[in-house]
Amino acid sequence: MRTTVWHGGETFTLEERPVPTAGSTEVLIQVAACGICGTDVHIIEDKFPLYPPPRVIGHEYTGTVVAVGARVQKVRPGDRVVVEPGYTCGDCYFCRQGRENLCQQRVVHPGGFAEYTCVPERLVHPLPEGISFEMGTLAEPLACALRAWDLAALHSGVCVGILGGGAVGLLLTQLALHSGAVKVILSEPREHRRAVAKQLGAVAVDPTREDLPVTMQAETGGLGPEVIFDAVGHPALLIQALDLVQRGGTVLEVGVADPAAVASIRPYLLFEKELTVRASHMRPYTFHRAVRWLTRLTLAPLLGVEFRLEETLEAIRSQRAGKGIKIVVKP
Ligand SMILES: [Zn+2]
Ligand SMILES: [Zn+2]
Repeated sequence: MRTTVWHGGETFTLEERPVPTAGSTEVLIQVAACGICGTDVHIIEDKFPLYPPPRVIGHEYTGTVVAVGARVQKVRPGDRVVVEPGYTCGDCYFCRQGRENLCQQRVVHPGGFAEYTCVPERLVHPLPEGISFEMGTLAEPLACALRAWDLAALHSGVCVGILGGGAVGLLLTQLALHSGAVKVILSEPREHRRAVAKQLGAVAVDPTREDLPVTMQAETGGLGPEVIFDAVGHPALLIQALDLVQRGGTVLEVGVADPAAVASIRPYLLFEKELTVRASHMRPYTFHRAVRWLTRLTLAPLLGVEFRLEETLEAIRSQRAGKGIKIVVKP
């Protein structure tokens, strides 16, 4: 089979490797589509220490089951599936506290920039009817968005601010509006992303040309949103969110920041507004629900930019350049 192997920085090689064989509890999958994530951009910039090279990356993928081990019960050959990336040890301090996203021995299998992958049965989720392979790649970012939504612990009737209109920002927009938010105000400099945000029902603001603080105030009766999600992971946006969020509100870091980036915040502001600052890490206990949500959300406008396996680096560069919303590689 063909696979692209990442060797650090922007170096990828297209390699021939044997098709893996499914062990007794494993599932062999022919990959149909693999989404490009913001973290893939961090990976080629050597700013994501969780994944040392060499490695087959790509963690947002779907495909068709081609073989199953003797003890596999959930799926059979021919089934269309989406794969939950990686699993946890189940035995470390954090796993035993029900906080498996903080596991210290996380297991990550080779990713979806390959023609075939082989994963444990527990990571495989059947794709709902009517959800294409491309749409299914959104299950993973949706599971991350759902984790952030869970942590925000909001009541119905709130206003929500979202900084960044990439896939996670636009999925969060929909989760919020389906889950009781009366208004979503989304800040995004790129026009094509704002257009989708508007189509989904958000108030979309161009922070480079409009006055975001004024709009956030005006749209929330002068109070600011109860919660602001930073769906980019940029220090300037964290600072902006602390300024714009309602008194007593919550700022939630969803985007993955450059590990070396620093934000300077005023502790007095945290005190004065009695703010909560939270961060979501990975997607514990959300993947099943994310797969269910796929059938209720508007996914097509987030898709449409596609590359071939040998163009993996180009696909990741296009993500960095802000093309499309969810870029997909099709092996
Ligand atoms: Zn992702
Ligand atoms: Zn663990």
